[in-house]
Amino acid sequence: MRLLTKCPDCSIALELSIADADRRKRCPRCGKLFRLPDTDALHKALTLLQSAQCDVYVDEKGNVFG
Ligand SMILES: [Zn+2]
Repeated sequence: MRLLTKCPDCSIALELSIADADRRKRCPRCGKLFRLPDTDALHKALTLLQSAQCDVYVDEKGNVFG
């Protein structure tokens, strides 16, 4: 499962592992260190999506899109 998000600084699209959720990552383009959201909504979405093997998109505010 991939975790798709974007840098809050330069808005570059980033493709990360779901294992990176709730970790701090450095943007490969601008070098900004930012924290990936780890919200209740994300956990709920992951629970729902685990069996479906879908990608999940989360924006810098923690909004989750399946
Ligand atoms: Zn960036």
